[in-house]
Amino acid sequence: MSIPLVDLRAQYCAIKNEIDQVVAEIFEEQRFIGGHHVTSLEQEIAAYANVNYAVGVASGTDALLLTFRAAGIGPGDEVITSPFTFFATAGAIVNVGAKPVFVDIDPRTFNINTDLLEQAVTPRTRAIVPVHLFGQCADMDGVWQVARKYNLMVIEDAAQSLGAAFHGQCAGTLGDAAAVSFFPSKNLGGAGDGGMVLTNDADLAEKVRLLRNHGQDTSYKHVFVGTNSRLDALQAGVLRVKLKYLPQWTEQRRSHAAYYTQHFQHIEQIKCPVEQERTYHVYNQYTIRVPRRDDALARLRQREIGCAVYYPIPLHLQPCFRELGYRKGDFPEAEKASLEVLSIPVYPELQRHQQDEIIENIQQHLTDVT
Ligand SMILES: *Cc1c(COP(=O)(O)O)cnc(C)c1O
Repeated sequence: MSIPLVDLRAQYCAIKNEIDQVVAEIFEEQRFIGGHHVTSLEQEIAAYANVNYAVGVASGTDALLLTFRAAGIGPGDEVITSPFTFFATAGAIVNVGAKPVFVDIDPRTFNINTDLLEQAVTPRTRAIVPVHLFGQCADMDGVWQVARKYNLMVIEDAAQSLGAAFHGQCAGTLGDAAAVSFFPSKNLGGAGDGGMVLTNDADLAEKVRLLRNHGQDTSYKHVFVGTNSRLDALQAGVLRVKLKYLPQWTEQRRSHAAYYTQHFQHIEQIKCPVEQERTYHVYNQYTIRVPRRDDALARLRQREIGCAVYYPIPLHLQPCFRELGYRKGDFPEAEKASLEVLSIPVYPELQRHQQDEIIENIQQHLTDVT
């Protein structure tokens, strides 16, 4: 029996009645853009994360982009971030005209190494964008230490970490603002693209609110040149149904992760995810390091076990960023991680017997290659 990396069908089947009902209601209303589902979702997410403002937008990428624009980050500015993340983190920086400056990762957590932050600061630095990768918060104490010293903004890429926490405080509320993604495979995923900006800054929230709708203040009066980046009513309706289950799904992910770790932690050749003290990891991905990673990947795929490499090419080595002038060897930990990491299924509906099959195949791989 095949095991997918993420089983959205299983999730849908468990809540089909509620999803179908809200979709049917929205079709009855025929109000597809904005509306009460969007404002309610914004309030519910704000309450869930414990933040003052939540502004729904069209994607996690736009959440980053519009936050940067609202913060006035643009040409001539530098923004420090991780080279080991999804492309959008750096893509959004470039798309507002700013320059991404990469800092290598901590090999234990795959998150930005805050010991290396300060040396990347220049007079042009405006912001730090920590990415809470795979569902675990970056070292925000270390981030803020540098941000405060140099008066930099902190904008969290919380696309993979809604529900995660650092010292008891939710991801998305640990910086000046944060970007959340509702891409279907994220811990809270919609039925298409969606995203949200979280912030306690009333001005920033208002600017994003205007920017997402062509800078339109009152009817047909435009105070900024914004864009169309609104959240659809259908997305908001579906996400409202799913949000109720997010704490339960997160606990299931954590339980699966603990089961894997229990089996892998005594195997010398495997490196399990390391949960930092006082962080609450929500396991958007369960990512291990294995020897002969590509062989492991091939074996699992051949057995129809879903798995993936997040991410095979660090951003500083992406062809489109050649002009930034980075070279192979600049960020050894990110480069090493890109060769060693393997993400395996950890979705809430995963069954123990499926996990046993995955564990067995990985053990078999180790026996074959060592
Ligand atoms: C998914 C993701 C994004 C982008 O979100 P979209 O909703 O797909 O635009 C940004 N950053 C990270 C780290 C992500 O995982």
